[in-house]
Amino acid sequence: MHPTLSLIIPMHDEAPNVASCYDRIRAVLDPLEEPWELICINDGSRDGTLAELLALRARDPRVVVIDLSRNFGKEAALTAGLDQARGEAVIPMDADLQDPPELIPELLVRWREGYDVVLAVRSSRASDSIFKRGTARVFYRFINRMSEVPIPEDAGDFRLMSREVVEALKLLPERRRFMKGLFAWVGFRTARVHYERPARQAGETKFNAWRLWNFALEGITSFSHLPLKVASYFGLLVSFFAFLYAIKIVLDTLVYGNPVKGYPSIMVAILFFAGVQLVAIGVIGEYLGRLYEESKQRPVYLVRKRYGPPGDNPP
Ligand code: UDP
Ligand code: MG
Repeated sequence: MHPTLSLIIPMHDEAPNVASCYDRIRAVLDPLEEPWELICINDGSRDGTLAELLALRARDPRVVVIDLSRNFGKEAALTAGLDQARGEAVIPMDADLQDPPELIPELLVRWREGYDVVLAVRSSRASDSIFKRGTARVFYRFINRMSEVPIPEDAGDFRLMSREVVEALKLLPERRRFMKGLFAWVGFRTARVHYERPARQAGETKFNAWRLWNFALEGITSFSHLPLKVASYFGLLVSFFAFLYAIKIVLDTLVYGNPVKGYPSIMVAILFFAGVQLVAIGVIGEYLGRLYEESKQRPVYLVRKRYGPPGDNPP
């Protein structure tokens, strides 16, 4: 029989969190008397995460372990979990207990009311560093101006999704998966539940500034072509002024003759526009690179071994 609820937890070097995470989840879910499964994806951990997970599984067969062949990143790990999940409702969570399991009953209530997606929205970002708060704000401003679908601010991957939503997500063929954007793109009836996001329980964050920056680029290039357009409009604008300036030079020459001047202005123009052109080429490169990645059609992740329910699982 299929479980009602599938929890998906991507894990990269989360050994100190495995046991406590399971205990907290169990304490919340068992009293609900619904069948559930806990899908843990070991995303190329270099610590004892896999051993911890297998020890858990030996005690509780509801724990499914998917061991990826290397570190594919959180988005890919999450995709692996979604492919594996069999539940009627699916909830991705972080291993560090920043997504409190105590919220799950509330998510289930809203789902039973008929919502397909129940977003867990953090009421404040107090547990984030000032740096992360600032950059997150700028990012959401930026992407929501540009993207075709609004990406809800202050909601992470922690949310409940119905089976229909998960099946819809599986239809999206892209290899570079900016999950937050894909979640938003599929739509469906959405409810919101607010919660206070605690600090990470143990270990440290896997997302340093460089990784966050690349994550942001991924999001922007996946959901907007605006950066490509900016170059063309800027080019048009510049051409317009260049045209006016050309007329002025011609008139000057006709009226005053040609007293060869203007070395500084030529240098400034050359340097400035060389810079602009390099930036524009860089922007095209970001898109082209992603197009290249997509065209290779490589799988999003590779499974080394699956320790999980036998039977009707996708490969
Ligand atoms: N994670 C992962 N693969 C990675 C990086 C992170 O599966 O390459 C997992 C990590 O184990 C955790 C979740 O993604 O369960 C969120 O990571 P983290 O808590 O470091 O992110 P933050 O909360 O700081 O944004
Ligand atoms: Mg975290």
